[in-house]
Amino acid sequence: MPVGIKPGEIIMNRDEVLKVVLGSDELPTLSTVASRLISITAEEDTTIGDISNLISKDISLSAKILKVVNSSFYSFPQQIGSIHQAASILGTNAVRSLVLSFSFLKPDQQSKDGFDYATFWEKSLFEAVAARMLMTAIAAEDSEEGFVAGLLQNLGVLILARTFADKYVEVDAKIADEDVDRCYAEKTIIGADHPFIGSEVVKNWGFPESLILPICYHHEPHKLKHSDTKLKQITDAVALSGILSTVYQSKTPDKVVTRFKTQAKRRLQITNDKLDDFLERVHTEVKETAKFFDLKIKNQKSVAEVLQIANAELSILNLSYEQMNRALVEKTVQLEILTAELEKKNRILEKLANIDGLTEAYNHRYFQGFLSSEIKRGERNDYPISVVMIDIDNFKKFNDSYGHQVGDYILKEFATVAREMVREYDMFARYGGEEFVLVLPETKSSDAEKIAEKLRAKIAEHTFKHEMESYHITASFGVADIHPAKDKFGKNELIAYADEALYTAKKKGRNRVCVYSGKKRWFSR
Ligand code: GH3
Ligand code: MG
Ligand code: MG
Repeated sequence: MPVGIKPGEIIMNRDEVLKVVLGSDELPTLSTVASRLISITAEEDTTIGDISNLISKDISLSAKILKVVNSSFYSFPQQIGSIHQAASILGTNAVRSLVLSFSFLKPDQQSKDGFDYATFWEKSLFEAVAARMLMTAIAAEDSEEGFVAGLLQNLGVLILARTFADKYVEVDAKIADEDVDRCYAEKTIIGADHPFIGSEVVKNWGFPESLILPICYHHEPHKLKHSDTKLKQITDAVALSGILSTVYQSKTPDKVVTRFKTQAKRRLQITNDKLDDFLERVHTEVKETAKFFDLKIKNQKSVAEVLQIANAELSILNLSYEQMNRALVEKTVQLEILTAELEKKNRILEKLANIDGLTEAYNHRYFQGFLSSEIKRGERNDYPISVVMIDIDNFKKFNDSYGHQVGDYILKEFATVAREMVREYDMFARYGGEEFVLVLPETKSSDAEKIAEKLRAKIAEHTFKHEMESYHITASFGVADIHPAKDKFGKNELIAYADEALYTAKKKGRNRVCVYSGKKRWFSR
């Protein structure tokens, strides 16, 4: 490649490409018999005898041809014993086509530079058979020429891939990556497309027009302007075979078949019935024909099968998508349920961590936290907070008299009565043992005293009923408040002051409420 030329740039025009191709060692050569046959069939005075004499010189070729003409492929009523007989019955063009086909279809060709001969010839054979069958379906003459033109329509691909091996890799990559037309990729990367190269090479070999033109126009049969109907028919049949052969690689084979059918009806006026019959039989004919050329073809499926598989794959895809979706929804729902349960459990756990097991009042830990945050809030919002320390009177004696179990019941019932009396935003907790505490936000000690007094009275007159027995208890209350925005003390002092007030209440005879005053003035009822 000349310096400065990037891959993908056109470095030659198509005639320059052709020159390289024709001068290349990679150009396939025709067998002597084939090339001689082409030149003599072009001569007007050639007789069937001349042709059969020439072919008969190649014994193995003759044997192959006789094998084909005696096969079900032709289904002649009588056995054909000689090339002469074959040429008489089939016509010289058909025999020439057979010879050409045999000289090209070589099953044992090895892959070179990554070119996959097996797949290439398998596809070409399909196209040959399809073109021949289409010709037969419209009762065109020389369906054999359809076969060889179909077979060689992509000869240019083989030649370009061999002559410009590296660039052809790029061509294939461009087609795969960008989903572009093969001819377009060839023209942009190499400078000439395979219909041009293929047709020019066979022209060079002396092939007749009936083979050159179909090869040249197989990608754009509408561009062939020729008065000869037969030439147009071969070209259309070859083009159609090229469309249909892509059904095996296509991701949307149904579209390929629709396109094929539409064009077959329009260009060759083939009826629907004949088309259906053609599509049903084409793969079997391909399999049969492959035998004559010793070509091993990979499990050739019928067109209907290809369509079925594509359909099935599509529904599997859709199904698994639906299933995936359903599974995803189920999992999401499960996750939501689990999350809700977890949140519920977390709430329970959190509550449990804050709740006293016996009395179900808040516990000491929670009380401490609550009071701290209330003091902060009171400081921000400039309001007082009261704390009421509560201690059941002579509870030791109570336990001693009635037993711990009754004592436990009293503690529980005490908490229930107290909780019922406090406001929603107040907090009642078990401080420890038979001591409880009330935190009253936005409440000064004089108001707290009233609440404490109500509670004291309520407890004093409450009948605690347990297992048919009735009990009465009293409790003492110590009240202290804090005005966090003004006061110099904190939470611990506040608790200590309330405790001190409670101690005073005990000292003063129990069953009473005492309020702590900083001036050590004690009020009690
Ligand atoms: P005071 O009027 O001075 O408060 O006398 P008191 O007997 O109530 O006080 P003291 O602190 O001497 O005794 C408290 C008693 O409370 C001791 C214990 O038996 C009882 N108590 C503490 N916790 C529990 C509990 O969980 N269950 C029961 N049944 N009794 C408890
Ligand atoms: Mg006590
Ligand atoms: Mg007590």
